Amino acid sequence: MPTFTINGKELEFKPGQTIIEAARDHGIEIPHFCWHPKLSVSGNCRMCLVEVEKIPKLVIACSTIVSEGMVVQTESDKAKAARDAVMEFILINHPLDCPICDEAGECKLQDYAYRYENGESRFTEEKNHKPKHVQLGPHVMFDAERCISCSRCIRFCDEIAKSPQLTFVQRGDRVTITTFPGEKLDNPYSMNVIDICPVGALTSKDFRFKARVWDMSATKSVCIGCSRGCNIDIWVRNNEILRLTPRYNEDVNSYWMCDYGRLNTFKHVNAKDRVDSPQLRREGQLVKVGWDEAFAEAASRIKSFAKDEIAFIGSAYATCEDNYLLAKFAGSVIGSGHIDFMRHTDPEFGDDLLKKNDVTPNTRGAELVGVSPSKSGLNLEGIFKAIKEGKIKALYVIEDDLIASNPELENIFARLDLLIVHATNYNRITDLADIVFPAATYAEKNGTFVNFDGMVQRIKPAVTTVDTDRALDGLSLSRLDKFGTKFDKWASGIKRDAKSTWKILVALSGVLGHKLKFNMAEEVFVDMSSSIDAFKGLDYDDVGESGARIKTKDVEQNVNV
Ligand code: SF4
Ligand code: SF4
Repeated sequence: MPTFTINGKELEFKPGQTIIEAARDHGIEIPHFCWHPKLSVSGNCRMCLVEVEKIPKLVIACSTIVSEGMVVQTESDKAKAARDAVMEFILINHPLDCPICDEAGECKLQDYAYRYENGESRFTEEKNHKPKHVQLGPHVMFDAERCISCSRCIRFCDEIAKSPQLTFVQRGDRVTITTFPGEKLDNPYSMNVIDICPVGALTSKDFRFKARVWDMSATKSVCIGCSRGCNIDIWVRNNEILRLTPRYNEDVNSYWMCDYGRLNTFKHVNAKDRVDSPQLRREGQLVKVGWDEAFAEAASRIKSFAKDEIAFIGSAYATCEDNYLLAKFAGSVIGSGHIDFMRHTDPEFGDDLLKKNDVTPNTRGAELVGVSPSKSGLNLEGIFKAIKEGKIKALYVIEDDLIASNPELENIFARLDLLIVHATNYNRITDLADIVFPAATYAEKNGTFVNFDGMVQRIKPAVTTVDTDRALDGLSLSRLDKFGTKFDKWASGIKRDAKSTWKILVALSGVLGHKLKFNMAEEVFVDMSSSIDAFKGLDYDDVGESGARIKTKDVEQNVNV
């Protein structure tokens, strides 16, 4: 490989790389505002000016291609003075908004002002004033005074979202961004401009003014909005989720996520309609009871049916661990082969960037862990038919409001003698259930999903329940810390009494006289990986923060199911 020298170190580079890219590959950050690894080069902020031997003027590292033997200095007096001048120039018209700016704490301009500026401005005139709360579209607010004209947002809309809705207007210090006449910043990925804006010029209408960044914890997780499984950070304060942001994973979602996933996949966790204790139906009403009473009632009622009269429905919203234990519970504990799960697709949802038509996070996982009928067992349609015929009398459903997807099921389920449901929130199926167990949401438990492309990905508790508080879902503090969960922020806020579905099934099995020896989600995963070929040899460490591809021929690449 060819080499070049940067700050006295000889490093390899790939032919065609720019200085900024080659340096980044070796962990050397050259300061920049307008450059972004996934956008075209615009070279307008000038922050990445560096000195190159034998070139009389400074060059911008974002657009200068490295050549064999090139000698680059990023910390020479000349380069430092140029950076200082660029910072002074950018800050001339920048308002002193940091105390009230949503970006404070994660702002490139703020960080660079501390790192690369001498802290003095020679500009004593009145700063240029511009509009401060412009609604660019349904989700994005614009503060024109804070904009440093880097054009990242414009290039994102043109090049990634393929919705050229933004442009610059005016010139000089009056330059600003705006939407084209009659247009709004309204595309399925519009909120990514908030993440890539290096300052607080673009903010989220949903999140703005809700919290200071340093008051929140960020937990690495996976979006549940579709089978892409975009990697995300869940931001929490006082045990309440306040925002989701995309987390870089080149094999899954790069730097992006869609607006639907960002806005619609966490509010149910905070919602008032959470099921927050076990419930039994008494005289037509659901009544809150303790866990022991609910387990005892569920066990005694299950025992009153023949094994062939009981069916089970897993969930593409639940984790692999939850579905795996449901399959074990149905087969080994109850002895029923009637088990399946519902697929949820929306042909209008998918697109060519990230969104998939399968609007659940774990269809592939549910399939792989065995949520499917035995040879003589009934599939989903067979189960519904058998309920109508009075052959299936008891149904056990985890984490899926089947009636919301198929309203006809309401009449069918009304014929059941026993309906047991695990649910996170009250819904149409809990309205009919005889026994409801409160299930932890994806943001409250450990587990894995398998995305459409065969990537096994970890979720971790970002908010705590009574159960995770008590047992930390079976994982030690040091182990959870390894995955980036910050416990010091968990001190206050509402804690719901919910458990992971797999844990409810373990406890119920015990009451039914079958001991399943799992104390933590990781043990369920290890059991899965020892018995299911696709997961062979994998453990939570292998899955890590960016996922592991399952070992199966069944994975269809890029299928928009
Ligand atoms: S709004 Fe932000 S991303 Fe867009 S040009 Fe201004 S500073 Fe850059
Ligand atoms: S593309 Fe799918 S997984 Fe990604 S953010 Fe959107 S809904 Fe979530």
